[in-house]
Amino acid sequence: MTNSRETDPQDELPENQQTENTESESFTEEETSVLEENQEEELLDQLMRTAWEKSATDIHLDPVPDGLLIRIRVDGGIRPFETLALEDAKKLLIQIRVRTELDFGRVFTPMEGQFTWTSEDADKDVRVTMIPIGATESVHLRILTPPEALTDITQLGFGDRDLEIVRRNLSRPQGLVIVAGPTGAGKSTSLYSLASTFDLAGIIAVSIEDPVEFAIPHIRQLEVDDRHDLTMYEGLRVLLRMDPDLLMVAEIRDSKSAVTSARAAAAARFVLATLHSRDAAAAVEAFHYLSVPYSILGGSLRVIIAQNLVRKLCTECRSSRNLDEEEKKLFEFIQMTPPDTVYEAGGCEICDQYGYRGRTGIFEVVEIDEDLGREIANGRSQLELRRLFRERGFRTMIEDGLEKVANGITSLEEILNLYWPGAQDGIEFDLGTWKEEYLG
Ligand SMILES: [Zn+2]
Repeated sequence: MTNSRETDPQDELPENQQTENTESESFTEEETSVLEENQEEELLDQLMRTAWEKSATDIHLDPVPDGLLIRIRVDGGIRPFETLALEDAKKLLIQIRVRTELDFGRVFTPMEGQFTWTSEDADKDVRVTMIPIGATESVHLRILTPPEALTDITQLGFGDRDLEIVRRNLSRPQGLVIVAGPTGAGKSTSLYSLASTFDLAGIIAVSIEDPVEFAIPHIRQLEVDDRHDLTMYEGLRVLLRMDPDLLMVAEIRDSKSAVTSARAAAAARFVLATLHSRDAAAAVEAFHYLSVPYSILGGSLRVIIAQNLVRKLCTECRSSRNLDEEEKKLFEFIQMTPPDTVYEAGGCEICDQYGYRGRTGIFEVVEIDEDLGREIANGRSQLELRRLFRERGFRTMIEDGLEKVANGITSLEEILNLYWPGAQDGIEFDLGTWKEEYLG
């Protein structure tokens, strides 16, 4: 190992950092010497390992008077982790800079980078964003989940009927499939999952994404890069010249991209796209607002999947309880027989006392048959569309969610929180408004 200086990156890093460090006032010589003892590496590795064990997707580091506040995001919610003392905080920040190969001379500007964290079971890519806060900085680490974990569409949480609709339509030669939902609703996961059902090696598959989060084998993935004038629309134009069978767009935000995607779907391509929208009926309206003519929409749309995410109850510690009268009404309102009991969150070692572990999608899936296509082409309103959807056996996200409550997968509190914040604090259900808003 005498010549490891050439090959071992760990060996090179302190040297690199030392040279840069002389110009920086934020890091003292003392810290450099600690770094050479390789102690910070353990700190970052420790943080990464614990976060991974807790299934965290993000790690947030924020300066507080007595050090660095560490919080993690698990199942969509922020959880306090610990506060690192000042000395350790400095070490950790240095370690992150070293691992991400960020410039030590630049301490007063926001910086982005990436590193690969190697653990026993797999390598995980970690995206790093640092911003200066006073004399120190805030850091966000995003742990990018490898795509293997996302591929199976049966694991997303579709009900049997919805899964069948999705499968049937993915085997058609062309058309537009929309995954709609608010931010953080798991749209990208679904999109990658849907794409993975195609024989990607046997077709030409391309994508334009903002940003590309995972590399998917056999998909030519192009990332939006506004700094180099590669807008989503420009990317789409180029990709469409590459003779694609499957085009993925994540996410449609502007008129030109919306129109181009819908036209491509009408002209013998299969297009999978995500769109910001509250529900399935609103997705049609959202496309129309983006200047896509109803006639093109009606002719190209095959399926609209609207979705959101709810936390799954920890099966180790959930406990059953009876429904009260008001809650029973919720079920009866959507013509569901209220279950005798539902489960509520407990708390145990396995779920870190939170009562929930992992998340699942709740969905509404609409198949756009020829008749519905004609109705959409005729410019039907959201309310009319919702009625037409229901005539075809469509289930809303709330209905899908309440079924998951009846099956003990999630809690009633979780569904109410999502659609009716405040309901648990004693605010009486206004079933009339609820029906109008969500059931149409
Ligand atoms: Zn538990």
